[in-house]
Amino acid sequence: MTIQEKFGFHKVLNTRGPATILGAARVQESIRRDISDILGESAQINELQRRASEAIVRLTGAEAGCAVHCTSAGMAVAAAAALAGSDPARIKALPDITWPKKKIIIQKGQVTGAGDCPVWQVIKMCGAEYVEIGEALDCASFHLKAALDDTVAAAFYVMEDTFAPNLLPLETFVSLCHEKQVPVIVDAAYLTDFRMLARLGVDMAIYSGHKWLGGCTSGIIAGRKDLIHACYMQEMGIGRPMKVGKEGIISVITSIEHWLARDEEAIRRTQTARAEEIRAELEGIAGVTCSIQESLYSPSVRLHVDIDEKQAGIAAWVINEELAHTEPVVMTDDYYVNQGKIIFDMAFLDEGDGTVIGKLVRDYLTGVRTPDPKLTRAVPRPRQDILYDWFDQWLDDAPRG
Ligand SMILES: *Cc1c(COP(=O)(O)O)cnc(C)c1O
Repeated sequence: MTIQEKFGFHKVLNTRGPATILGAARVQESIRRDISDILGESAQINELQRRASEAIVRLTGAEAGCAVHCTSAGMAVAAAAALAGSDPARIKALPDITWPKKKIIIQKGQVTGAGDCPVWQVIKMCGAEYVEIGEALDCASFHLKAALDDTVAAAFYVMEDTFAPNLLPLETFVSLCHEKQVPVIVDAAYLTDFRMLARLGVDMAIYSGHKWLGGCTSGIIAGRKDLIHACYMQEMGIGRPMKVGKEGIISVITSIEHWLARDEEAIRRTQTARAEEIRAELEGIAGVTCSIQESLYSPSVRLHVDIDEKQAGIAAWVINEELAHTEPVVMTDDYYVNQGKIIFDMAFLDEGDGTVIGKLVRDYLTGVRTPDPKLTRAVPRPRQDILYDWFDQWLDDAPRG
């Protein structure tokens, strides 16, 4: 009996990648075994965290590191650490800040989600005065210099590949902040170059432990030793309701070892074979273009499928909404779906899954399957409207209307 049958939920073929909402990474056997072993033991959490720090230093080249519950928790904890430091009275005072350094700044063009909640929530929940600088599409040195006064406790930077091209580069951002002794906190949940941020002098970098590292729910903060010390100390305060457990800390340690020993070439070969399974099914269909691409934000092979609605007779977003209701459910990276692009990430597919997915997509493109009229809409919806429905249906699996 599969786990899906045992507990009654749908099998998901995940081609989105390690999205938290899909349970993040599929955790490999050897990592699962270590997590399972620690669950049967008692342990001193501070000792586990010390070992995690050593592993994080090996991974990132930073001075120190600590495990946290997830990336968004890490962002809140890092903000709290920048505001309160290691002073127990201040740690216990948050979110009430009675001292001058209380601002946390961010470029307006980087105001994204910390996952599915807006980044300002994880900053403001610590009591910080939240300040956006620049404009949606632009931020210049003068915007940052003008904002960096004596009341700034930290500056946030988000590593993503979807931003406007004229925001401040990280190097400039860090050097201007450091001129004023302002620490820089970086959200690097999806980043897979784990060494670049320490090299650039980032004070606290937050990585996901359950995305590309491949562990169970967890995150990492890597950076300056005094600030990392302060991060763990926040568990005496605002960090407590988002603490990491022994399973998350062991997961961080063992998945780092796993990551450092991975055979990149073998992984790429396997994933390319999966992508070719999908591509083979879509070969020769009018209006469909396939290309394999890789990025800094994904160590995996990703098949980009561009669908020209006029030629193909069906829009990419319609196919994508359908795939969420097929058996098995197919989840894609649909960030650009309203512009005609579906991205299939190969990281979590098994042999043959690509063929199943390719056939489903082909069936919609060739009219063998037709979209459910109940689901069909005249115009595509913004991503977060779909996400909202997804959340809203959690109890009864039906639209509330
Ligand atoms: C996934 C993600 C987060 C949130 O990660 P969680 O571990 O789910 O809290 C934050 N920032 C970025 C850029 C992400 O991709």
